Amino acid sequence: MKKNSSPWIRQLNHERPLSRLSSDISTDVTIIGAGIAGVSTAFFTLKHTDKKVVMLERFKLAHGATGHNAGQVVSYFERGFASLAREFGLRQAADAESSIVHAWELIDEMYTDAGLDIPFSRFTGHGGLTSFQQVKSHLEANKLRREGGIASRDLLISESAAFAKAIPEEYAGLYTLVPQGQINELLETKMPGFLAVISFQKGVLNSALFCQEVVLYLLQTYPDRFSLYEHTPVHKVILHKEHAVVDADTHVVDTAKVVLCTNGFESLHIINEAGLEIDAKYHHLVKGKVGYMSGYLEDLTKSPTAISYYTEPSASMENDYFYLTRRPYEYEKGRHHNLISVGGPAYDPEEGEAYNFEDGFPDNAGAEIDAFIHRVYDIEPHTSIEYAFTWHGLMGYTRNGVRLIGPEPQNPILLYNLGCNGVGILPSIHGGRIISRHLAGEKVGKSIFDVPVR
Ligand SMILES: Cc1cc2nc3c(=O)[nH]c(=O)nc-3n(C[C@H](O)[C@H](O)[C@H](O)COP(=O)(O)OP(=O)(O)OC[C@H]3O[C@@H](n4cnc5c(N)ncnc54)[C@H](O)[C@@H]3O)c2cc1C
Repeated sequence: MKKNSSPWIRQLNHERPLSRLSSDISTDVTIIGAGIAGVSTAFFTLKHTDKKVVMLERFKLAHGATGHNAGQVVSYFERGFASLAREFGLRQAADAESSIVHAWELIDEMYTDAGLDIPFSRFTGHGGLTSFQQVKSHLEANKLRREGGIASRDLLISESAAFAKAIPEEYAGLYTLVPQGQINELLETKMPGFLAVISFQKGVLNSALFCQEVVLYLLQTYPDRFSLYEHTPVHKVILHKEHAVVDADTHVVDTAKVVLCTNGFESLHIINEAGLEIDAKYHHLVKGKVGYMSGYLEDLTKSPTAISYYTEPSASMENDYFYLTRRPYEYEKGRHHNLISVGGPAYDPEEGEAYNFEDGFPDNAGAEIDAFIHRVYDIEPHTSIEYAFTWHGLMGYTRNGVRLIGPEPQNPILLYNLGCNGVGILPSIHGGRIISRHLAGEKVGKSIFDVPVR
C-alpha cells in the first residue's frame, strides 16, 4: 500500500521550530485547530481586535484537511443553491453565496497583508454535466440567483443534447447553446456523454503553505498577542459563565473565549458548567468523510485549470464526482512541472471508527482515479501514469451540509468555525472574519451559518 503523501505538505518548511505548551497560561481567545479555519480566525481577530490569541494544535500546523485537499479555491457550496434556498429562504441563501464570493477579497487581504508570493493562480474553472437532471438543477439555481439579485453562473448546453430545444421558457437567458465540440474542449475530454458545462471563477493554492506563511507573518507582527502551540492536543473544554478552561496536553489555558476550528468534534469533550449540556447532543453532528487523491507530474505546457466531472448521470452536486486540477508545481528547487491531481473516491468511516492520517493509501482508490483519468481526461491512450503523490484527508460534514460559524447558543464563550462539507477554503476564511466580528463585540446579522439552537 502506498503512503499518505501530499504534495502540499511536501512544500512546507520541515525545519520550522515548533513550540509545545509547557506551562499553564491565560489568554483572551483560544483557537483550537491550526488549519485554514484556525489561521484565518487568528488573522482577522488579531487584525480587528486587540485580543491576545493562543492557537493550540494537536499535531502540526496545516497537517489536517488543509494539507490534504485539492487546493481548489471556489465560492460554491457542495450543497445545491436551490436546496439551500428551500431550507433557509432565498434571501439567506443568496446572502450566504455572496458572502463566500466576498471571501475572495478576504483571501486577497490575507495574501497582501502577509506579503506573500506563493503561487495562487486564478482562472475560469468548469464542471461537466451528463444528464438533464443535473442541468436542470443548475438552471433552477440560476433562476433563483436571478430572483435573489445575485450573479448567475455561466451554463453552456450542447446543441446536440436531446433536451436542448425543449428547455422551459422560464429559464430563458440563463444558459447558452454551444456546439458539442466546445463542451468537450472546455472539459479537456474526448469522452462522449457530457451535455453541458457550468463555469465560474476558480483558483489553485497550496492552502497548507498559505497557512504556514500567514502564521509566520502573525508571529512576527503580533509577538506579544499571538502564539501557536503544536503537539498540544486539547482533551477537554470546560465552559463557565465568564470564561473557559481548556485542558491542553498536560497544561491548562484559562481563556475568555474558545473557538473550535477542528473541522469536526471527534476528539474533545465540551463541558458546560454554566448551563445545558452541549457535548452529548453535539458530538455526532459533524460526520467524518475521508477523501482520496492521486497526483502526477507532467511537462509544464498547459495552463492551470480546475474541472469537476459528474460522469454518472445520476450524480448530484454533493456526491459521485471527480475533480481534477492542473497547476505549476515546484517538485524540487528549480524543477517546475505541472501537477495533475485528481480526487473523487471517498469513504464514510463507521460510527466511532478513528481516522488516522498515517494510514496507507488504499489500492482501490488509486485504481479508481487511474481509471477515471484514462477514461475522461485528454491524455495519450495507453499511457501508464506514475503517481508522485497519493494522499487522503478527513472532512467534517454537518447534517445539513452547511458550515457552522458563530457562538454556541447554550454558552457564547464557545464559538465555532468548522464543518468543511467538501468545500472549505473560502468558507473557513469567511468564518474567520465573522468570528473576529463576534469577538470584537459587533452585532452580526443572521445567516445560514448560525449555530442552531437545539
Ligand atoms: C481530499 C480533500 C479534498 C478537498 N478539496 C477541497 C478543495 O478543492 N477546495 C476546498 O475549498 N476545500 C477542499 N477540501 C476541504 C478543505 O480542505 C477543508 O474544508 C479545510 O482545509 C478545512 O480546514 P479546517 O481548518 O477547518 O480543518 P483542518 O485543516 O482539518 O484543521 C483542523 C485542525 O484541528 C486540529 N485538531 C482537531 N482536534 C483537535 C484537538 N482536540 N486539539 C488540538 N487540535 C485539534 C487538527 O489536527 C487539524 O490540524 C478538501 C478536503 C479533502 C480532505
